[in-house]
This record gives sequence, C-alpha cells and structure tokens, in this order.
Amino acid sequence: MTNKSPNQEHPSGDERYKALDLAMKRFKYEKDALLEVLNVAQSTFGYLSEDIMTYVSHELQTPLAHVYDVATFYELYTLEPVGKHHCLVCTDPACALAGAEEVLATAVAHTQAHNLSATIKSSPCLGLCDQAPAILYNQTAQVHIQPSDMASLFAGEQRPSRSQVAGNPRIMTQYINRLPPTDLDAHRAEGAFVALAKALIHMTPEDVIEEIIVSGLAGRGGAGFPTGLKLQFTRQAPGTPKYVIANFDESEPGTFKDRVLMEGDPFQTLEGLMLCGYAVGASQGYIFVRGEYPKATAIVQQAIDSLYANGLLGTNILGAGFDFDITIRRGAGAYICGEETALFEAIEGKRGFPRMKPPFPTTHGLFAQPTAINNIETLAMFPHIILNGGNWLRQWGNDKKSIGVKLFCLSGHIGQPGVVEAPFGITVRELIEQYGSGFIGEPQALLIGGAAGSFMPPDYLDTPLTNEALAGLGMSIGSGVVMVLNQTVDLLAILRIITNFFVHESCGQCTPCRVGTVQIRHMLDKIIGGQAEPEDLDKLTRLCTTVKTTSLCGLGQSAPNPVLSTLKYFRHEYEELIKT
Ligand code: SF4
Repeated sequence: MTNKSPNQEHPSGDERYKALDLAMKRFKYEKDALLEVLNVAQSTFGYLSEDIMTYVSHELQTPLAHVYDVATFYELYTLEPVGKHHCLVCTDPACALAGAEEVLATAVAHTQAHNLSATIKSSPCLGLCDQAPAILYNQTAQVHIQPSDMASLFAGEQRPSRSQVAGNPRIMTQYINRLPPTDLDAHRAEGAFVALAKALIHMTPEDVIEEIIVSGLAGRGGAGFPTGLKLQFTRQAPGTPKYVIANFDESEPGTFKDRVLMEGDPFQTLEGLMLCGYAVGASQGYIFVRGEYPKATAIVQQAIDSLYANGLLGTNILGAGFDFDITIRRGAGAYICGEETALFEAIEGKRGFPRMKPPFPTTHGLFAQPTAINNIETLAMFPHIILNGGNWLRQWGNDKKSIGVKLFCLSGHIGQPGVVEAPFGITVRELIEQYGSGFIGEPQALLIGGAAGSFMPPDYLDTPLTNEALAGLGMSIGSGVVMVLNQTVDLLAILRIITNFFVHESCGQCTPCRVGTVQIRHMLDKIIGGQAEPEDLDKLTRLCTTVKTTSLCGLGQSAPNPVLSTLKYFRHEYEELIKT
C-alpha cells in the first residue's frame, strides 16, 4: 500500500484521471480493488484503453497482464470506445418470450437509419424478467420495451422499473412499495434494527447462531445448505479476521427476487448482514452486487450511508461495543461470480474462477480467512428470526428440508409477473392463479428453479413447491424461478437460448464444462436442424450426464439440467425432429 495524493497530475493532462485517482485512494491502492477501479474507469472513460490499463497497473503496482486478464474476463468491460447510446438488450428466456430478438433488431436498425452513435449488444439476463423485454440503456434499466418505442428510447425517455410484489404471509416483502426504501426513520418506526438491538444487548453470538439453527433456515440462493451450521462453522474456525458477505450477484436467468428486496427494503438485509457478523465474530461485511444492478447499488449505498450517519454502522454500534463496517463491491458481468468462491476471487480483484472445495469458505474463504457468505433472501430472514425466535419460522412449510417461507419469481405467460412470498408447499397452480393473475394461453411447460433448473410439464401443476416433492421429479426449487411457457413457444428454441447462456458464462477453467457445454449446444443444433439420427438422443443424454458429474463447480454440474429434463418430459419434441 502506498500513500498517494489523489490530485497528482496525469501526464496526459486528462482531468478524468482524477476520478481514477480518487477511487484508488478510497481503496488505499490495494490490488484487490481492481474491479472497483476498472468500474470507475469504464464509467468515466467509456472504455478501458491500453493507456488506462497501463496507468491502473502502475498505480496499483500490479502487472499489466493481470489488469488485461481481468478486463477481458468480465462482460461489462469494453476495450474499444462505445457509442453515445449504449444498450444492452436482454435476450435470455423471459425477454425472449416477450419479443427481445425483435427489439434488438429494431434497435440496431433504428440507430443505423438515424446515424446515431450507438453500441447495441445482446445481453445475458438483466434480472428484469417480470418487466420483459428489458434493456440497460446507458446504465439505466428500461422495461417493457417494444419495437415501436425506439424513437422515444433513444430520445432519452425513461421507462423505469417497478416490480409487483404479492403473497401471504408478507414477511420479507411487507414494506416493499409501501415505505421509501432509504428512509431510515420510517423503517425504524416499523421495527427495523430492533432485532439487532436485541441481539447485541441481550444475546451472545452463540445465542444468535442457536436461534438460526432452531429455525431450520436453509440457504435461499439454490444450494439450500443449513444457514445456522454455516454460521457455527465460521465462528468455530480458527483465524481472524473473519468476514461475512451478502451474495447479491443474482444472475440466474428468471431470478429477480434479490433485486426487488434490495431496491425495496435494503435495511432488512443490511440488518441481517450485521447480525451475521455479530454471530460469527466478523467486523467487516461485503455486499457483492452484480454490475447490471446500478439502481439497486445506488439504493443500498444510500442506505449504508444513512446507517453510518446514524451510528448504526462503524464503531460501538448501539453502545454495545460492536464494531462493524459494510462495503459494496460491484461485479462487472459474470454469472459465475454467483458461485461463492468465484465471488471471493472477484472481491480479491481477480477473474471469477471457482476454487476447488474443500477447503470450504467457513475456514478458507475471502482472503483465505473464515467467511460466512449468504444469499440476500437468506439474510433478509435473520431479523425476523431473531425477533420472533427460531421456532416461529417452523409454522410454515414442512419440518424437513422446506421450512418457512420463500420468495418465488413469476414470469413468462401469466397475467401478473412479479415476486410472490409464500410458504413452501404452495403448488405451482396456486402461485400462478392466486398471485400471478392466471395463465395467458394454454401452458406448455414451466421452467422451475432457473436456467439451471428443469422444464416441468403442466401435468405437474399441482406439485407442492417443496424440495422433497421436486426432488421426486428430478427437479429443484433453485432460486425460486417459476417461468411459464405457453403453447405458442418453440420449447427447443428456448432450450437453445439457455444452452447458449451456459456456453457464454462457462469460465473455461475445467474441460468438461468448457468443451461439454459447446458440444451440448452443437448436438441441439443438429437436432433442431433435422440432421440428427435416433441414437443421438442417447448420445446427448450421456454427454449431459458426463458434464454434470465431472465439472468442477455448480455451473457445469447444473448446466445440463434443462436439457435432461426436456429429454425426460418432452422427448416427443426431439423425436419429431429426428431423421427416420
Ligand atoms: Fe468454470 Fe464451468 Fe468448470 Fe465451473 S464447471 S469451473 S464455470 S469451466
């Protein structure tokens, strides 16, 4: 670390370098701030030129090769200048169902016809599936975009996002769209930070862990690991400092619940992160947010600033001798960073390459220190459990692996897409008919759990949404995605989009995933193109099974799921295309 002045003059005399200098000073010239520094460079200069990367390399005293390595790994960094109108058009499943390809083509044609300075790219899921089709236009989310909207879009007219929230009971979502998200006084008047006060003043860290264990809370990001055990392992692990992390890298196509939570009620999760820190013995928390969520990032930063201003972050919080800081770290467009060890790498200023496990994060996590990393929704439950006691959560769901309430992300061909909060055990049909305003058209298939989930035929609409019932069908709840595809949809075309997503997002570190996902796409293309032989379906099954069982991390292990589910439940779709 060096102690430099942020006002030094850059040799080129370009004033914009001062923004970079300030960013580097804010992070004390630590190498691990590389993504943050490149994010500032990208937004200040519009792209990462060789000059800029050389400057960053020199100032952070890290090799230029490393800066280049990181700059070329993350999707949101560009090494060439971008146009005045910078558009990322989501073309993943929910937006594809709503006509994204036509929006993309029309946007390109419009800017060419009007000679606009524009860079328009197709983008992986932007987490706006409830308001599809969606675009990130000059870092602002624009929703429900239609081809006829191009003139107003490029004239700067705003179509801001607003998500619908429904369900019963409303625990995590009760203040969303009801209270201003960053009004600390309003949230405290409704009980925000009472759980933190209870824990700091009346409970030991072990008591907090015990309540979380009793509650049966399990991770809501998809893996479902028991949260209380994770806290206990981290607390018991030797070594300091310890870290806690909120995983806000919500990038699974079809998933947007964490964005809705953080845009609508950030204090709840921030309080949960503080409780988590108190429980494991950490004084530093990180929120890792995907780069495609600029609105949520601004809201969460404003909420954090307000907590510092009111003595709820920093030293001696609530006079209880608890010191705790929260820092936001932004990603830059890489689905793989939702994998916990890849996320650590990103916070450490590197490419998002997953690590071998074991060792596990509870002993060797961020900076090789004991780390408790939890999904946003998981942390949002902490204050409620501490206030009401662990047994309170068990009144919903079952007493096995599906305890409590869950946020579901409804999208696709239904009347009202949005987030629904409901107990485990609600059926797919109940979710859609009670809270999603019913089906639009005759359902053909439902994507359950996310892009790494499974396609469910409508015969199973009355399946309770529990881990146990879905496991019986070879499926999982995953991140809570329920996306409806009606009979107008070409199912294999949507499957091709999902397969392409995994080809694009594979980090390339291990061979089964890097090569296998490409081969799966190749075989799908062969089938869709009418060039496949009957034995190709068995080959595709074997290929998927090999990728699933031999890949290093969860991405490769789950990428074949949607293909395998269609081979099982929608085999007729393939057989119609096979040469006889
Ligand atoms: Fe990377 Fe895929 Fe291997 Fe995971 S499974 S480490 S994403 S190549």
